[in-house]
Amino acid sequence: MNIARIPGSFDLMPSGYLVTDNERSILYANRYALTHLGYDDLSGTPLFDIFTLASCILFESYIAPLLLKEGACDEIQLTLKAIDGSKRSVVTNIRRDEADNNRVHWTFINASQRDKLFQELIDARNLLEEKTRFLEARTVTDDVTGLPNRLSVTQYLTERMSNPALVQSQFVVLFIDLDGFKSINDTYGHEIGDQFLKAVGQRLARSLRATDLVARYGGDEYVVLLQQTDNEAKTNTLMIQRIVNQLNTPFQINGQSLSVSASAGATRYPQRDSVEPEQLIRQADQAMYEAKLAGKNQIRWFDPDWENSQRTQHELTAQIRQGIELNQFLLHYQPKINLKSGTVIGLEALIRWQHPNRGLLMPGDFLMHIENQQIELELGDWVIDTALKQATQWHQCGLPLPVSVNVSGFQLMDPQFLERLTALLYRYPDLPRQHFELELLETCAIDDSMNIANVIASCRRMGLLVSLDDFGTGYSTLSHLKDLSVDILKIDRSFVQDMLTNPSNIAIIKGIIGFAKAFDCKAIAEGIESADQQAALLQLGCQTGQGYHIARPMPGESIEPWLTGRPTPTKP
Ligand code: C2E
Ligand code: MG
Ligand code: MG
Repeated sequence: MNIARIPGSFDLMPSGYLVTDNERSILYANRYALTHLGYDDLSGTPLFDIFTLASCILFESYIAPLLLKEGACDEIQLTLKAIDGSKRSVVTNIRRDEADNNRVHWTFINASQRDKLFQELIDARNLLEEKTRFLEARTVTDDVTGLPNRLSVTQYLTERMSNPALVQSQFVVLFIDLDGFKSINDTYGHEIGDQFLKAVGQRLARSLRATDLVARYGGDEYVVLLQQTDNEAKTNTLMIQRIVNQLNTPFQINGQSLSVSASAGATRYPQRDSVEPEQLIRQADQAMYEAKLAGKNQIRWFDPDWENSQRTQHELTAQIRQGIELNQFLLHYQPKINLKSGTVIGLEALIRWQHPNRGLLMPGDFLMHIENQQIELELGDWVIDTALKQATQWHQCGLPLPVSVNVSGFQLMDPQFLERLTALLYRYPDLPRQHFELELLETCAIDDSMNIANVIASCRRMGLLVSLDDFGTGYSTLSHLKDLSVDILKIDRSFVQDMLTNPSNIAIIKGIIGFAKAFDCKAIAEGIESADQQAALLQLGCQTGQGYHIARPMPGESIEPWLTGRPTPTKP
């Protein structure tokens, strides 16, 4: 495609350059943009696929109108999504080219990363030189595949790890073992087997960058070294998945269509403790073995801190179980109000842990350590049960206040979640279902979207309310959310925090309110810390909110005194 670059003020720096058409499809992305986001190609991709939701909303509500009116928009901070889901904060200059079908030209830089990028370019050159020199001089190749063999890859690792020009270098060692290769060998014989191994090696090699290396380690095992730059964040499972998944497409060998899958283990270099080249390969091999045990066709990471973390994990789980038994957990409740009338419209239950030695712990102190584990489900059930009990009590004494609880993604994805929720609700038949609300993180609602969407729909069919928490901070895009119906969007605190000084945040809040209207749900603002914020939110059309300015989270028994003299909803 012939795209005339429109000069921008970032021209002297390494900058990303995108051109989009008036349907917001990407027509062109320069090499920097591709590398920065981890893509091989972006042409034809909808622009919103690489925008976070907040950036989509900012575009709709602020950038697009400004481009239409003035043709340009400078120094806008946006968050882009890299292929592995990580976020990239960039500063963007945008131009609309009226003479060229209103194509839009985007130039962006990542100011904080600028110096690092130069360093990475130098590192990559050093690495390439090292690799070429090594391959030319020393490599012993494997007869079957023509790839470096076991000895070479270990020597290469040794040289690379001791080369002073590359000491900063970070990389991932990947150990790949084919699942089901033996049956190919047994069925079709060694000659076809060898051709197959060669084809696998070629396919792996094609999927790598010049600075990466693939070797045949033995049998049906391959070792891959993936160079990692800081700028790519962490080489993550998704990127490895892309490499390994390529092996799932059948191979055509001698007119036969042959398929295998592969199990892979990965480990990172450098590590906190010093590590030898052979040890790195053993770690990746060990992780691969766990992938096999877990059912093959998977990827596992080696975790150098595994033993330590297992021990503390074990202790924490035991402490939490004991804490539940000894009533050390409690819920604090934060009022949500109608911002205009001050009427309390509900309460959010937030967990606290009265730890015997460490004092009152906040969710941020312990929840993350039990993520994705059975104990998280047990604690989640305790939260739901306790909040239901409290809500029922308030109802019985004439305070019909809806209560919301936070539900984690892991809870929601648990196959027994609906069953257990139903059983818990059954214990409190006097509480109207529409007075109980589940707050789900936007990020978990879009994950594995089909199944979660079904769970959300079932909860709503039961009569419960569902809200999306921290809305605007997740990775979703508008197209993701179209299919997800919920009752409430909770505008994340980060947008409210500096809304009075940051016009982009005003635009995002406006966008979320408009979005809520369009999808027939309510919007509520979190984290209101001042009267000015409250007034500004009201002016933007946001009717409800919560935050320290209104009330801090407080124990259940403080709610009644707090409510005295305030307008409360009457019992229906
Ligand atoms: P969240 O659901 O977004 O809850 C709001 C958090 O913001 C609460 O922090 C609340 O105390 C705090 N907050 C409220 N108003 C303001 C304000 O005006 N300014 C500031 N700076 N902060 C405000 P908390 O209680 O520490 O909870 C943090 C997060 O932990 C919650 O965020 C929620 O995601 C999670 N969480 C809390 N309780 C539970 C629970 O029972 N289960 C699960 N799965 N997660 C929970
Ligand atoms: Mg919440
Ligand atoms: Mg929140």
